[in-house]
Amino acid sequence: MNEQDEYWMRRAMMLAARAEAQGEVPVGALVVYRGECIGEGWNRSIGSHDATAHAEIMALRQAGLAIGNYRLPDCILYVTLEPCMMCAGAMVHSRIQRLVYGAADAKTGAVDSVLQLLATPGLNHRVAWQSGVLAEDCATQLSAFFKRRRAEKKAARKQAAE
Ligand SMILES: [Zn+2]
Repeated sequence: MNEQDEYWMRRAMMLAARAEAQGEVPVGALVVYRGECIGEGWNRSIGSHDATAHAEIMALRQAGLAIGNYRLPDCILYVTLEPCMMCAGAMVHSRIQRLVYGAADAKTGAVDSVLQLLATPGLNHRVAWQSGVLAEDCATQLSAFFKRRRAEKKAARKQAAE
């Protein structure tokens, strides 16, 4: 882990907070090219009724538009949560150089936890990756959100019962 990785991961956490403000699960992602952010994304699945609207996909789309190419060699993708199957697949398609993620995802993580997709032999592109950058902060951001949401649901149920 280096200082640059921490800096960009903090920025990704700010994007995750934007998702949270919109009632979405707080995951944020960004794409860095030559030291500059060229794509930002945060979860929008609920609001846009779109299962593919994950933070990483949104960031890759914006980066592709910025560069004018869906291929993003020499780019680094930062995301606060371990990517799922779809997003790990999109990273291979987009040819990014490196992935850096924060918290592990025991349920749908497809890089280290449930699957090790990026390590699959025979892939046409290798994405290097680094896990655990600001992992605790990223995990806390998520768990605080779910805790708050459970409390809100409980309060709503209680109110409905009265
Ligand atoms: Zn995903």
